[in-house]
Amino acid sequence: MRCEEPLRRKAQVASKEAAAALAISTRPARLLSAPDAAEFAQLPRAQLAGMYAAGCEILECYRVLRKGGLNIVGEVLRGQGKFYEMEHYPKNDVFDEESHAQYYYHAHRAGEHGHFHAFMRRGGMPSGVVPLELPHAEPWPTGDDQLAHLVAISMDGYGYPIGLFAPNRWVVDDAWFSATDLIGMLDTFRIDHAFPSWPVNRWIGAMLVLFRPHIEQLLRARDLAFAAWRCQLPEEDVLERRDIEVFASLPIAVDETIAALRATLAN
Ligand SMILES: [Zn+2]
Repeated sequence: MRCEEPLRRKAQVASKEAAAALAISTRPARLLSAPDAAEFAQLPRAQLAGMYAAGCEILECYRVLRKGGLNIVGEVLRGQGKFYEMEHYPKNDVFDEESHAQYYYHAHRAGEHGHFHAFMRRGGMPSGVVPLELPHAEPWPTGDDQLAHLVAISMDGYGYPIGLFAPNRWVVDDAWFSATDLIGMLDTFRIDHAFPSWPVNRWIGAMLVLFRPHIEQLLRARDLAFAAWRCQLPEEDVLERRDIEVFASLPIAVDETIAALRATLAN
């Protein structure tokens, strides 16, 4: 399956500030284990069927991309010039005006080629949902610019997903919502157009469905990790601590999750 030429990460750092950010040694995140077939068995059958369909959609995206000698990451980097760490790919991000979902790809972490950051902007949030009331010195985006980071998807050197993670606020400059509110925004995340790539847009929407239990677990673990840091550092704005880059992470494997779903649905 992975016989293609790997993506080469000859990323260059765009600024001194970015270089300094990369040099910070970060505190380890909570590493979770992915939900298995036993946990899937607790989920409603309709959700399992939806997850399985999303898995098939992901495989279909891979099939058409591979047929053209392409992969997910190559699609968002195509025509974008030299690959700089921290810069967004594609430039100006990908946004759906109807769903208000947004994503971009970039790189600033070891152990992966790069990652996608998936967001929901204000217009796509359920009414009544507001950021947590936490004292913060740094301004959070407000009004129509308000956005919430849902999940980050780590990609390997061949352009395939290998993990999910929940970053600190300063990493993506969003407003800070509870895990429960973020989970409520997952249902409507979709990019229903073809820029910069229809298979990539279908893929990222399907990823949020296939790995929904994983993302829920990740976001709840994020909230627990954040609460633990606040207890440990009561005088500080933990959301701005540059040595806390990621609160929680989780390895993922599309094939294994689809196999677990197939086994669960067969019973
Ligand atoms: Zn990032």
